[in-house]
Amino acid sequence: MSPLPPGTAQRRVTWSPSVTLVPTHHCFNACGYCSFRRPPLPGSLTSAAAPPDALGAAEASHLLRQRPLAREVLLLSGEEAPASPARRPWFARLLALSRLALACGRLPHTNAGPLSLREMAALGRLNPSMGLMLEGLGPAYDRLHRQAPSKRLEVRLAQLEQAGRLGIPFTTGLLLGVGESRAERRDALELLALLQQRWGHLQEVILQPWRPDGAAALPLDRARQDDLLTTIAEARAILPAEVHLQLPPNLWPAERLIEALEAGIDDLGGIDSGDVINPAYPQPTPADLAVRLAAAGWGVRPRLCVHTAWIPWLPLPLRRAADAVAQLLASEHTFELREP
Ligand code: SF4
Repeated sequence: MSPLPPGTAQRRVTWSPSVTLVPTHHCFNACGYCSFRRPPLPGSLTSAAAPPDALGAAEASHLLRQRPLAREVLLLSGEEAPASPARRPWFARLLALSRLALACGRLPHTNAGPLSLREMAALGRLNPSMGLMLEGLGPAYDRLHRQAPSKRLEVRLAQLEQAGRLGIPFTTGLLLGVGESRAERRDALELLALLQQRWGHLQEVILQPWRPDGAAALPLDRARQDDLLTTIAEARAILPAEVHLQLPPNLWPAERLIEALEAGIDDLGGIDSGDVINPAYPQPTPADLAVRLAAAGWGVRPRLCVHTAWIPWLPLPLRRAADAVAQLLASEHTFELREP
């Protein structure tokens, strides 16, 4: 690590020590890029039966114990169709897993697709922050989402509005590199900026490079890297300053991470021991990140799933939970850097 020149302030990027729980992989959508999904079981549209992989409390507790230093519990679920009789038990499992996370001294962050007003309000009382990717707008996304009713642009925008109306600190993002144009990316960012000006609840926007799935990671070519760096800089210029810009470090070449930070990225998202969406792309360890970034004068700091500026938005019980977890995080900081 090379020391900074005297008088130079260290620049900082945040990350969230997290563990991902998957309530189910079964999903009624069929997005063109998804390898996380398992198809709905035959008859599931008329049956309330739980899918075979439904995550129960015992297994979830076991997974939490395996990641004792993860303070964020990302609930990342395949979606049940709104009219399915299985929707209610599916949603009850999301509530139960959120309660379990809180009971274990963790903070849940749910990303389970579009929710009704009542569902979102109920989860918002248990989740300090929630998320839903906008994904993007334009014909490239329309093609990929032809079999994904809940990925229609108007559905996603209505969800972001609804979260704003409910005052829920929210994470959204764009999936980049699926064939969209630069202008379409800018249009999507302008839409998010308008939402933020109206509601103020967008705590972070993920700029997620699309990476092909498969047994092994495939490289992101230099031209696409340059293109994404331009988009990061545009996002920083378009979005209000309080909105954090997030880049998943396992989907971006480590040797260009500093350039991404200099272009506007200030958050590396939740880092678990693996990536359930893109398993071929291994997560860097926080310790590796800390060493690499320190060499260029950057510090890494763990954070909660809810960014500090939005903690006052939370209902009192959640605010207390967030404050308690923040204290733990501060005391564990040095250990966090060692956890794989
Ligand atoms: S909604 Fe999510 S889980 Fe379902 S198919 Fe699309 S990307 Fe996969």
